[in-house]
Amino acid sequence: MDRDDRAGRPGGDHPPERPDHPEPLVSAQDVEDADDILFAHPPRVITRWLCGCGEDYPCPDVRFARLVRAVHATDNGVDDSR
Ligand SMILES: [Zn+2]
Repeated sequence: MDRDDRAGRPGGDHPPERPDHPEPLVSAQDVEDADDILFAHPPRVITRWLCGCGEDYPCPDVRFARLVRAVHATDNGVDDSR
């Protein structure tokens, strides 16, 4: 029961120790890195736009409409002369 708990890992509770990681606890370098990481990864508030239809804006309909308008605006000057 004790062995089968972790599938595929007979006889080892912890991974083998690596020579390049002699300290099991956080080192001073880790703390320094953590400061840098926290400084470089500040939380950001993302403002989500909601469409009137309840979906994220632009919803597929709006995207389609925009595309149509864009295309229409492009040929407007040419096609309007007819
Ligand atoms: Zn919509």
